[in-house]
Amino acid sequence: MAWMLPTIIKNLFSRPATRRYPYKDIREPFLGYRGRIHLDPQKCDLSRDCARVCPSGAIEVSPEDRQWTYHPFRCVYCGACMQICPQRAITQDKFYAKPATTKEIETINVPL
Ligand code: SF4
Repeated sequence: MAWMLPTIIKNLFSRPATRRYPYKDIREPFLGYRGRIHLDPQKCDLSRDCARVCPSGAIEVSPEDRQWTYHPFRCVYCGACMQICPQRAITQDKFYAKPATTKEIETINVPL
């Protein structure tokens, strides 16, 4: 136990090895980073192409209810939905997702 004493004392007076994200030391995303997706409901034609191509089932489209639903916690940020969308209604931001305590689901009503 005594052999650990120098390490314990050193750690008591040194900076933590980890970052206090998201409170401090937030880094800029690296070049080409792909973040969360966003839908422009004015452009969406509810074609379901995004939901068909999504590998993780993060998008649900209901043309009957005119609703587009996104599950951010299922999304792997691959960008396939953005690339396949014929209307260019989906965009992807460049920011790291903030930690969360609840699994939010985003439902957007698409106008006629
Ligand atoms: S970025 Fe990829 S995983 Fe996320 S919703 Fe689009 S297709 Fe699905």
